[in-house]
Amino acid sequence: MGTWSTEQIRNATSQSVMMTWAPGKAKHNTPLITHGEGVYLYDDQGKQYLDWTSQAVCSNVGYTLPESVLQATLQQMTQLPFLYGGLGLCETRARLSQLIAEILPGDLQGMVFPSSGSEANEAAIMMARRYTGKYKVINWYRSYHGGTANSQQATGDFRRWYGGDHVPGFVKAFHPNPLFWDLAGATPEERTQMALNMLEEQILNEGPDTVAMVQFESVIGGGGVIVPPPGYMQGVRAICDKYNIVMHCDEVMVGFGRTGKLFGFQHNEGVIPDIVTAAKGITAAALPLSMTACRKHIMEYFEDNPLGWGSTYQAHPVAMACAYENVKYLIQNDIIGHVQRLAPILEDNTRRLAEHHPCIKQYRCIGLFGCFDVANPDGSNPQLQHTAIDKAFVEYKKAYTANGLIGLMRPPHLHVAPPLVITEDELLDGFERQ
Ligand code: PLP
Repeated sequence: MGTWSTEQIRNATSQSVMMTWAPGKAKHNTPLITHGEGVYLYDDQGKQYLDWTSQAVCSNVGYTLPESVLQATLQQMTQLPFLYGGLGLCETRARLSQLIAEILPGDLQGMVFPSSGSEANEAAIMMARRYTGKYKVINWYRSYHGGTANSQQATGDFRRWYGGDHVPGFVKAFHPNPLFWDLAGATPEERTQMALNMLEEQILNEGPDTVAMVQFESVIGGGGVIVPPPGYMQGVRAICDKYNIVMHCDEVMVGFGRTGKLFGFQHNEGVIPDIVTAAKGITAAALPLSMTACRKHIMEYFEDNPLGWGSTYQAHPVAMACAYENVKYLIQNDIIGHVQRLAPILEDNTRRLAEHHPCIKQYRCIGLFGCFDVANPDGSNPQLQHTAIDKAFVEYKKAYTANGLIGLMRPPHLHVAPPLVITEDELLDGFERQ
């Protein structure tokens, strides 16, 4: 491996490589990345790129993995490269389960380890349905929950419903963030209460005996870094308790430190969801692994009943060995504290850029996660009116490549989500490259 010429790679790619979320032709316009170091990636011409969004908000420790992660992964690979997840008893699985249970608040102690965020959410949906005996799932518009059948349908963005919105049992709710509501004269507390009243009204109209789960991203990530207003999640918790509905926080994008807390839901004091899913940050994307954590009462239910969901590669021992050391690294090196220290610097520079850029209308930041809303060329509100913006984003992508930035662009949003280990100077370097 690693000895092909650029021409050989480009030819074979043209002939056989298919893209998934983008049309196949997109592959011709991307640089050929050959290696990474720290928070930088390098192409076949030796050009350096700053990873401005941890790729898909996942390469949280950059590209020089901690020695402890490398060693543990290699050791597991050498000692026992695979053990079927259905067998249950395995030291790495026991250790990782215990570690995650310890760092999660409350009694979130039952752990399933699928391979991707989408699968973690599939497991969560199955858990809620089997546990409650009900089937409807309520999700926010603008959220993203994955690319498998149920998780895609749970996603609240019509642009993701390729193949049709035909999977039954998913109900969409509006996001409570005042960003989208012009409730003239209402105080923030009144707005939050109105949003909660709407959610409860929706549940009552759907029939509380049919609603299994409320499944929200703790902070909407790809859909624009949208944080629920103070008090809202506590209200959701109370509504879920009232109607015996499972509360699920999808932390696939923000879990393991992105927002300046270990998990995004922890910004809402006292809230313990019934289910928490995470992925990306658990191994910092070095290997595919996700988690579906549930509270004790749900775990106990499945001591006597099968979950009825799984996959061959779930609880993969090598990925779990990698995750265990990665999570320990985050904690021992106080990466969350580092994120908290850099957060105001990110916010200041994001605001400054937004104020001076003619095409940026709004910005939002939390921890090391920022987002710009790019305006339509006619200056109208960018929210979801993306047709004209799509073209502008092609230009952004070209500019990013030229300036040596790797970005994540989800029109109308441009994200800023560098690896959590980025230094202050590197962060400022990113803004210089904009
Ligand atoms: N949930 C959220 C909030 C995500 O951001 C993503 C991916 O970006 C997913 C689920 C799906 O994860 P995966 O791509 O690993 O299947």
